Amino acid sequence: MRSLVTGGAGFIGSHLTEHLLAAGDEVVVLDNLTTGSMANLASVRRHPRLRTVTGSVCDEALVRREVATVDRVFHLGALVGVFNILEDPLGGLRTNIRGAESVLAAAHEHDVPILMASSSEVYGKNSKPRLTEQDDQVLGPPQLSRWTYAEAKAVAESLTYGYVAKHALRAVTVRLFNTVGPRQTGRYGMVVPRFVGQALAGDPLTVYGGGAQRRCFCHVLDIVPALVALLEDETAHGGTFNLGGLEQVDIAELARRVVAVTQSSSEIVHVEYQQAYETYGPGFEEVPSRAPDCAKAFAQIGYRPRHDLATIVADVAAYQRAASVLV
Ligand code: UDP
Repeated sequence: MRSLVTGGAGFIGSHLTEHLLAAGDEVVVLDNLTTGSMANLASVRRHPRLRTVTGSVCDEALVRREVATVDRVFHLGALVGVFNILEDPLGGLRTNIRGAESVLAAAHEHDVPILMASSSEVYGKNSKPRLTEQDDQVLGPPQLSRWTYAEAKAVAESLTYGYVAKHALRAVTVRLFNTVGPRQTGRYGMVVPRFVGQALAGDPLTVYGGGAQRRCFCHVLDIVPALVALLEDETAHGGTFNLGGLEQVDIAELARRVVAVTQSSSEIVHVEYQQAYETYGPGFEEVPSRAPDCAKAFAQIGYRPRHDLATIVADVAAYQRAASVLV
Protein backbone atom coordinates (compact mmCIF):
# COMPACT_ATOMS: atom_id res chain seq x y z
CA MET A 1 0.00 0.00 0.00
CA ARG A 2 1.08 3.55 -0.69
CA SER A 3 -0.44 6.02 1.75
CA LEU A 4 -0.53 9.81 1.78
CA VAL A 5 -0.73 11.31 5.26
CA THR A 6 -1.56 15.01 5.25
CA GLY A 7 -0.39 16.54 8.51
CA GLY A 8 2.01 13.61 8.78
CA ALA A 9 4.58 15.64 10.72
CA GLY A 10 1.99 16.56 13.33
CA PHE A 11 1.14 14.86 16.58
CA ILE A 12 -1.33 12.21 15.36
CA GLY A 13 0.03 12.14 11.81
CA SER A 14 3.56 11.22 12.90
CA HIS A 15 2.29 8.28 14.96
CA LEU A 16 0.16 7.15 12.00
CA THR A 17 3.17 7.46 9.68
CA GLU A 18 5.29 5.27 11.97
CA HIS A 19 2.46 2.73 12.18
CA LEU A 20 2.02 2.55 8.40
CA LEU A 21 5.76 2.20 7.78
CA ALA A 22 5.94 -0.61 10.34
CA ALA A 23 3.09 -2.33 8.51
CA GLY A 24 5.04 -2.20 5.23
CA ASP A 25 3.44 0.80 3.51
CA GLU A 26 5.18 3.38 1.41
CA VAL A 27 4.25 6.70 2.98
CA VAL A 28 4.16 10.22 1.62
CA VAL A 29 3.88 12.90 4.30
CA LEU A 30 2.49 16.27 3.24
CA ASP A 31 2.86 18.91 5.92
CA ASN A 32 3.35 22.67 5.94
CA LEU A 33 5.24 22.47 9.25
CA THR A 34 3.26 25.22 10.97
CA THR A 35 2.23 23.20 14.01
CA GLY A 36 3.90 19.99 12.80
CA SER A 37 7.63 19.42 12.94
CA MET A 38 10.14 17.11 11.28
CA ALA A 39 11.37 16.34 14.80
CA ASN A 40 8.15 14.32 15.22
CA LEU A 41 9.38 12.00 12.45
CA ALA A 42 12.91 11.63 13.89
CA SER A 43 12.57 7.87 14.39
CA VAL A 44 11.71 7.28 10.69
CA ARG A 45 13.38 10.29 9.10
CA ARG A 46 15.70 8.17 6.92
CA HIS A 47 13.25 5.34 6.31
CA PRO A 48 13.57 4.16 2.68
CA ARG A 49 9.78 3.96 2.29
CA LEU A 50 9.10 7.49 3.59
CA ARG A 51 8.98 10.62 1.46
CA THR A 52 8.20 14.01 2.98
CA VAL A 53 6.81 16.97 1.10
CA THR A 54 6.67 20.41 2.66
CA GLY A 55 3.57 22.21 1.45
CA SER A 56 -0.02 23.15 2.11
CA VAL A 57 -3.14 21.02 1.80
CA CYS A 58 -4.66 24.12 0.18
CA ASP A 59 -2.18 23.91 -2.72
CA GLU A 60 -4.50 22.09 -5.14
CA ALA A 61 -1.88 21.32 -7.78
CA LEU A 62 0.52 19.90 -5.20
CA VAL A 63 -2.21 17.83 -3.55
CA ARG A 64 -3.34 16.41 -6.88
CA ARG A 65 0.24 15.51 -7.78
CA GLU A 66 0.80 13.69 -4.50
CA VAL A 67 -2.57 11.94 -4.40
CA ALA A 68 -1.79 10.61 -7.89
CA THR A 69 1.14 8.64 -6.41
CA VAL A 70 -0.77 6.75 -3.68
CA ASP A 71 -3.48 4.12 -3.08
CA ARG A 72 -5.16 5.87 -0.14
CA VAL A 73 -5.24 9.15 1.79
CA PHE A 74 -5.40 9.99 5.48
CA HIS A 75 -6.39 13.64 5.75
CA LEU A 76 -5.18 14.92 9.11
CA GLY A 77 -3.69 18.24 7.96
CA ALA A 78 -5.50 21.06 9.74
CA LEU A 79 -5.00 24.13 11.85
CA VAL A 80 -5.72 22.95 15.40
CA GLY A 81 -5.58 24.16 19.00
CA VAL A 82 -7.87 26.59 20.78
CA PHE A 83 -5.14 29.24 20.99
CA ASN A 84 -4.43 29.05 17.24
CA ILE A 85 -8.10 29.23 16.35
CA LEU A 86 -8.73 32.22 18.63
CA GLU A 87 -5.66 33.97 17.27
CA ASP A 88 -6.44 33.36 13.58
CA PRO A 89 -10.06 32.31 12.98
CA LEU A 90 -9.86 33.19 9.28
CA GLY A 91 -6.70 31.14 8.81
CA GLY A 92 -8.36 28.19 10.53
CA LEU A 93 -11.48 28.41 8.40
CA ARG A 94 -9.56 28.66 5.15
CA THR A 95 -7.06 25.90 5.92
CA ASN A 96 -9.62 23.51 7.31
CA ILE A 97 -12.31 24.03 4.64
CA ARG A 98 -10.19 24.63 1.55
CA GLY A 99 -7.70 21.95 2.57
CA ALA A 100 -10.46 19.38 2.97
CA GLU A 101 -12.02 20.31 -0.37
CA SER A 102 -8.71 20.14 -2.20
CA VAL A 103 -7.86 16.68 -0.78
CA LEU A 104 -11.38 15.33 -1.42
CA ALA A 105 -11.33 16.59 -5.01
CA ALA A 106 -7.97 14.92 -5.62
CA ALA A 107 -9.11 11.66 -4.02
CA HIS A 108 -12.16 11.70 -6.28
CA GLU A 109 -10.10 12.50 -9.37
CA HIS A 110 -7.70 9.61 -8.70
CA ASP A 111 -10.37 7.30 -7.28
CA VAL A 112 -8.60 6.53 -3.99
CA PRO A 113 -10.22 5.99 -0.59
CA ILE A 114 -9.85 8.74 1.98
CA LEU A 115 -10.11 9.06 5.74
CA MET A 116 -11.40 12.49 6.81
CA ALA A 117 -10.35 13.48 10.31
CA SER A 118 -13.04 15.49 12.03
CA SER A 119 -13.43 16.45 15.66
CA SER A 120 -15.69 16.08 18.68
CA GLU A 121 -15.75 19.87 18.56
CA VAL A 122 -18.53 19.55 15.93
CA TYR A 123 -20.91 18.56 18.77
CA GLY A 124 -20.20 21.96 20.32
CA LYS A 125 -22.07 22.48 23.58
CA ASN A 126 -24.36 19.47 23.21
CA SER A 127 -24.61 18.34 26.83
CA LYS A 128 -25.69 14.72 26.27
CA PRO A 129 -23.68 12.50 28.64
CA ARG A 130 -22.47 10.23 25.81
CA LEU A 131 -22.53 11.64 22.30
CA THR A 132 -23.50 9.42 19.38
CA GLU A 133 -22.82 10.13 15.74
CA GLN A 134 -26.45 11.19 15.15
CA ASP A 135 -26.49 13.83 17.88
CA ASP A 136 -26.98 17.50 17.12
CA GLN A 137 -24.38 20.15 16.66
CA VAL A 138 -25.01 22.81 19.30
CA LEU A 139 -22.75 25.72 18.52
CA GLY A 140 -22.55 29.19 19.97
CA PRO A 141 -22.75 32.25 17.72
CA PRO A 142 -20.20 32.54 14.91
CA GLN A 143 -18.96 35.80 16.40
CA LEU A 144 -17.38 33.67 19.14
CA SER A 145 -14.39 32.49 17.21
CA ARG A 146 -13.95 29.22 19.10
CA TRP A 147 -16.84 27.82 17.07
CA THR A 148 -15.19 28.57 13.75
CA TYR A 149 -13.16 25.39 14.20
CA ALA A 150 -16.34 23.34 14.65
CA GLU A 151 -17.91 25.11 11.68
CA ALA A 152 -14.95 24.35 9.45
CA LYS A 153 -14.79 20.71 10.51
CA ALA A 154 -18.55 20.36 9.97
CA VAL A 155 -18.19 21.80 6.46
CA ALA A 156 -15.32 19.37 5.80
CA GLU A 157 -17.62 16.54 6.89
CA SER A 158 -20.46 17.82 4.71
CA LEU A 159 -18.13 18.02 1.74
CA THR A 160 -17.13 14.42 2.40
CA TYR A 161 -20.76 13.27 2.53
CA GLY A 162 -21.37 15.23 -0.66
CA TYR A 163 -18.55 13.46 -2.51
CA VAL A 164 -19.81 10.11 -1.22
CA ALA A 165 -23.36 10.81 -2.35
CA LYS A 166 -22.57 12.39 -5.69
CA HIS A 167 -19.41 10.57 -6.76
CA ALA A 168 -19.44 7.35 -4.67
CA LEU A 169 -16.13 8.44 -3.14
CA ARG A 170 -14.83 5.79 -0.75
CA ALA A 171 -14.56 8.02 2.30
CA VAL A 172 -14.86 7.48 6.03
CA THR A 173 -15.14 10.26 8.62
CA VAL A 174 -13.85 10.02 12.17
CA ARG A 175 -14.60 12.39 15.04
CA LEU A 176 -11.66 12.41 17.41
CA PHE A 177 -12.28 13.16 21.10
CA ASN A 178 -9.31 14.65 23.00
CA THR A 179 -6.56 12.51 21.54
CA VAL A 180 -3.40 12.87 23.63
CA GLY A 181 0.04 11.32 23.94
CA PRO A 182 3.73 11.87 23.25
CA ARG A 183 4.54 14.70 20.78
CA GLN A 184 1.41 16.68 21.46
CA THR A 185 2.44 20.19 22.36
CA GLY A 186 0.76 22.31 25.00
CA ARG A 187 1.68 25.51 23.20
CA TYR A 188 -1.73 25.80 21.49
CA GLY A 189 -3.84 25.10 24.56
CA MET A 190 -4.12 21.31 24.95
CA VAL A 191 -4.50 20.55 28.59
CA VAL A 192 -2.63 17.26 29.13
CA PRO A 193 0.76 18.35 27.75
CA ARG A 194 0.34 21.70 29.52
CA PHE A 195 -0.34 20.15 32.90
CA VAL A 196 2.47 17.61 32.51
CA GLY A 197 4.91 20.34 31.47
CA GLN A 198 3.88 22.49 34.42
CA ALA A 199 4.21 19.55 36.81
CA LEU A 200 7.67 18.60 35.54
CA ALA A 201 8.86 22.21 35.78
CA GLY A 202 7.49 22.58 39.31
CA ASP A 203 5.17 25.35 38.09
CA PRO A 204 1.54 25.65 39.20
CA LEU A 205 -0.98 23.63 37.17
CA THR A 206 -3.44 26.11 35.68
CA VAL A 207 -7.01 24.80 35.91
CA TYR A 208 -9.30 27.11 33.97
CA GLY A 209 -12.50 28.07 35.79
CA GLY A 210 -13.78 25.79 38.53
CA GLY A 211 -12.31 22.64 37.00
CA ALA A 212 -15.64 20.77 36.88
CA GLN A 213 -15.57 20.57 33.08
CA ARG A 214 -15.22 16.95 31.96
CA ARG A 215 -13.40 15.19 29.13
CA CYS A 216 -12.45 11.68 27.98
CA PHE A 217 -8.80 11.50 26.99
CA CYS A 218 -7.60 8.84 24.58
CA HIS A 219 -4.07 7.65 23.86
CA VAL A 220 -2.96 8.32 20.29
CA LEU A 221 -1.79 4.70 20.04
CA ASP A 222 -5.40 3.58 20.51
CA ILE A 223 -6.55 5.92 17.73
CA VAL A 224 -3.99 5.18 15.02
CA PRO A 225 -4.85 1.50 14.35
CA ALA A 226 -8.54 2.42 14.32
CA LEU A 227 -7.95 4.97 11.54
CA VAL A 228 -6.35 2.30 9.39
CA ALA A 229 -8.96 -0.36 10.21
CA LEU A 230 -11.84 1.96 9.33
CA LEU A 231 -10.35 3.03 6.01
CA GLU A 232 -9.57 -0.60 5.10
CA ASP A 233 -13.12 -1.72 5.92
CA GLU A 234 -15.19 -1.05 2.81
CA THR A 235 -18.42 -1.45 4.75
CA ALA A 236 -17.36 1.56 6.85
CA HIS A 237 -17.12 3.81 3.78
CA GLY A 238 -19.68 6.60 3.77
CA GLY A 239 -19.92 6.37 7.56
CA THR A 240 -18.98 8.58 10.52
CA PHE A 241 -17.38 7.19 13.67
CA ASN A 242 -16.62 8.60 17.10
CA LEU A 243 -13.19 7.61 18.40
CA GLY A 244 -12.19 8.46 21.96
CA GLY A 245 -11.52 7.29 25.48
CA LEU A 246 -13.82 5.56 27.95
CA GLU A 247 -12.96 7.18 31.26
CA GLN A 248 -14.43 10.61 32.00
CA VAL A 249 -12.44 12.88 34.23
CA ASP A 250 -12.98 16.46 35.35
CA ILE A 251 -10.12 18.87 34.80
CA ALA A 252 -9.46 19.49 38.51
CA GLU A 253 -9.13 15.72 38.98
CA LEU A 254 -6.90 15.51 35.91
CA ALA A 255 -4.58 18.06 37.52
CA ARG A 256 -4.42 15.98 40.72
CA ARG A 257 -3.66 12.81 38.73
CA VAL A 258 -0.89 14.55 36.77
CA VAL A 259 0.69 15.73 40.02
CA ALA A 260 0.46 12.20 41.43
CA VAL A 261 1.83 10.37 38.38
CA THR A 262 4.74 12.78 37.92
CA GLN A 263 5.37 12.95 41.69
CA SER A 264 5.47 16.71 41.35
CA SER A 265 5.51 19.25 44.16
CA SER A 266 3.56 21.72 42.01
CA GLU A 267 0.47 23.36 43.41
CA ILE A 268 -2.83 23.47 41.50
CA VAL A 269 -4.28 26.92 40.87
CA HIS A 270 -7.55 28.10 39.34
CA VAL A 271 -7.39 30.70 36.58
CA GLU A 272 -10.41 32.70 35.45
CA TYR A 273 -11.25 32.11 31.78
CA GLN A 274 -11.00 35.80 31.01
CA GLN A 275 -7.48 35.84 32.34
CA ALA A 276 -6.51 32.61 30.55
CA TYR A 277 -7.59 33.86 27.16
CA GLU A 278 -7.39 37.62 27.58
CA THR A 279 -4.72 38.16 24.92
CA TYR A 280 -7.06 36.59 22.34
CA GLY A 281 -10.17 38.64 23.05
CA PRO A 282 -13.65 37.49 24.05
CA GLY A 283 -13.74 34.55 21.65
CA PHE A 284 -13.84 31.75 24.16
CA GLU A 285 -16.70 29.70 25.48
CA GLU A 286 -16.16 26.58 27.59
CA VAL A 287 -17.57 23.15 26.80
CA PRO A 288 -18.74 21.81 30.18
CA SER A 289 -18.70 18.12 29.28
CA ARG A 290 -17.82 15.97 26.30
CA ALA A 291 -17.70 12.19 26.11
CA PRO A 292 -18.04 9.83 23.17
CA ASP A 293 -20.28 6.85 22.66
CA CYS A 294 -17.97 4.61 20.63
CA ALA A 295 -20.42 1.71 20.19
CA LYS A 296 -20.55 2.22 16.45
CA ALA A 297 -16.75 1.92 16.05
CA PHE A 298 -16.79 -1.07 18.37
CA ALA A 299 -19.46 -2.80 16.25
CA GLN A 300 -17.62 -1.94 13.03
CA ILE A 301 -13.99 -2.76 13.86
CA GLY A 302 -13.96 -3.93 17.49
CA TYR A 303 -12.58 -0.55 18.59
CA ARG A 304 -11.69 -0.50 22.27
CA PRO A 305 -9.15 1.87 23.82
CA ARG A 306 -6.54 0.05 25.95
CA HIS A 307 -4.52 2.82 27.62
CA ASP A 308 -5.82 4.26 30.89
CA LEU A 309 -5.31 7.84 32.04
CA ALA A 310 -2.33 7.02 34.27
CA THR A 311 -0.53 5.40 31.33
CA ILE A 312 -1.34 8.36 29.09
CA VAL A 313 0.05 10.83 31.62
CA ALA A 314 3.14 8.67 32.24
CA ASP A 315 3.83 8.41 28.47
CA VAL A 316 3.47 12.17 27.98
CA ALA A 317 5.76 12.80 30.97
CA ALA A 318 8.39 10.34 29.65
CA TYR A 319 8.31 12.09 26.29
CA GLN A 320 8.61 15.57 27.78
CA ARG A 321 11.46 14.51 30.06
CA ALA A 322 13.35 13.03 27.10
CA ALA A 323 12.66 15.83 24.66
CA SER A 324 12.85 18.79 27.06
CA VAL A 325 9.71 20.02 25.36
CA LEU A 326 8.63 23.60 25.84
CA VAL A 327 4.98 23.90 26.83
N1 UDP B 1 -7.68 23.69 30.33
C1 UDP B 1 -7.22 24.04 31.59
N2 UDP B 1 -5.95 24.52 31.72
C2 UDP B 1 -5.09 24.64 30.66
C3 UDP B 1 -5.55 24.27 29.37
C4 UDP B 1 -6.87 23.81 29.24
O1 UDP B 1 -7.95 23.94 32.60
O2 UDP B 1 -3.95 25.07 30.87
C5 UDP B 1 -9.05 23.14 30.20
C6 UDP B 1 -9.90 23.76 29.09
O3 UDP B 1 -10.55 24.93 29.55
C7 UDP B 1 -10.87 22.63 28.81
C8 UDP B 1 -10.06 21.35 29.06
O4 UDP B 1 -8.93 21.77 29.83
O5 UDP B 1 -11.94 22.63 29.72
C9 UDP B 1 -9.59 20.67 27.81
O6 UDP B 1 -8.94 21.60 27.01
P1 UDP B 1 -8.28 21.19 25.61
O7 UDP B 1 -7.95 22.47 24.88
O8 UDP B 1 -7.20 20.21 25.84
O9 UDP B 1 -9.47 20.39 24.86
P2 UDP B 1 -10.96 20.84 24.39
O10 UDP B 1 -11.45 21.98 25.25
O11 UDP B 1 -10.83 21.19 22.96
O12 UDP B 1 -11.78 19.61 24.63
